[in-house]
Amino acid sequence: MSESNSLVSVYYERQVRAAVYLVLAFGLIWLACLFMRGSFPSVLRLVAPLFLLLAVLWLGFVVCCPQCKLRLVFHAMRSQSVNSWLRWVLETPSCLRCGHRVASASEL
Ligand SMILES: [Zn+2]
Repeated sequence: MSESNSLVSVYYERQVRAAVYLVLAFGLIWLACLFMRGSFPSVLRLVAPLFLLLAVLWLGFVVCCPQCKLRLVFHAMRSQSVNSWLRWVLETPSCLRCGHRVASASEL
């Protein structure tokens, strides 16, 4: 991911990685609660999806254009199709609103 010059990979790689780990962790806890009912406290069945949702929302608020503060995840969810919004977020090299572009390696 660090080889590409997308906005997310340059500015928000750590945050995206943290959100992916959180979603995986809470997703697994939630699935475990659903399929192995007696093994976990029932409160986890309610709390795990809440934290999963909060991790996605947190990422949506954190990942924004450094120049105009356009929230890239929410913008992509609104403007791209269900199948392509995540790929768009991860690969877009420039902001659609202000045109801010990641400096290439030769410009740094
Ligand atoms: Zn922008």
